[in-house]
Amino acid sequence: MDNLLEIKNVFSGYNKKPVIKGISFEVAKGEFIGLIGPNGAGKSTLFKTLNGILPILKGEVYYQGADLTKMNLNERARRIAVLPQVFKVQFSYTVEEFIFLGRFPYSERFRCFSKKDETVVCKSIEMLSLQKIRNRKINELSGGELQKVLVAQAFVQEPELLLLDEPTSHLDIGGQVEIMNTLRDFNENGLTVISVLHDLNLASEYCNRLILLNNGELIKNGTPQEVMDYQLIEQVYKARVVIKENPYSNKPFLILYN
Ligand code: ADP
Repeated sequence: MDNLLEIKNVFSGYNKKPVIKGISFEVAKGEFIGLIGPNGAGKSTLFKTLNGILPILKGEVYYQGADLTKMNLNERARRIAVLPQVFKVQFSYTVEEFIFLGRFPYSERFRCFSKKDETVVCKSIEMLSLQKIRNRKINELSGGELQKVLVAQAFVQEPELLLLDEPTSHLDIGGQVEIMNTLRDFNENGLTVISVLHDLNLASEYCNRLILLNNGELIKNGTPQEVMDYQLIEQVYKARVVIKENPYSNKPFLILYN
């Protein structure tokens, strides 16, 4: 298997107290992985560990065989793009200017953006249908609009691996499908994606593999069919569910019942 990422017995957390407790899994090139689990399971903590915000207390993370923690920042940014949870933006860049910032890992010091930078930014604006808001200030956007702009900024980094923390949390169903379809298009063109997803049905529909966390531990790592098991989901989420199969995609989906 052509592994991009190897996570080996990783412990991480806050103030040296582990929240993530001994998680191991591998990610092959070209996968689309959903990190799922109830609130407080440790999804964001694992995400922050993979993107280097939180230190690894124990264990190792390898990127194409090299220790990820030893990679220099620019080198890392050209390979891995990170999309954090939507945050309130204070500065007043326009959408287009903000997306251009994603090209920084490619720019040399004191050099203007190149033709290539412009082409990549224009393509990304088109793919996410941001033409109408390209000149708006990003601190005046709705949560959903900002979410799309953040995705566009991550794309222009032209990464090999894209890490996303709940990329659809502020979007209506049309917006959710638009973002997920765009991610799928990029994934089909070779981008590896790991995304924290709150919505189990979106995760099941789009991801080739799901990793279910609970209490900082990996509970199940497998295909949507393997992970969307009603007993497992009921046990972890403490809710009664029915799992059915989508007749069009043949992917499992979940409905609640009392
Ligand atoms: P999830 O993303 O799955 O909802 P989190 O990773 O945010 O879960 O949280 C996992 C655990 O880590 C929770 O018990 C939470 O209280 C704790 N935690 C999250 N952020 C912090 C922080 N900044 N400082 C201390 N504990 C935190």
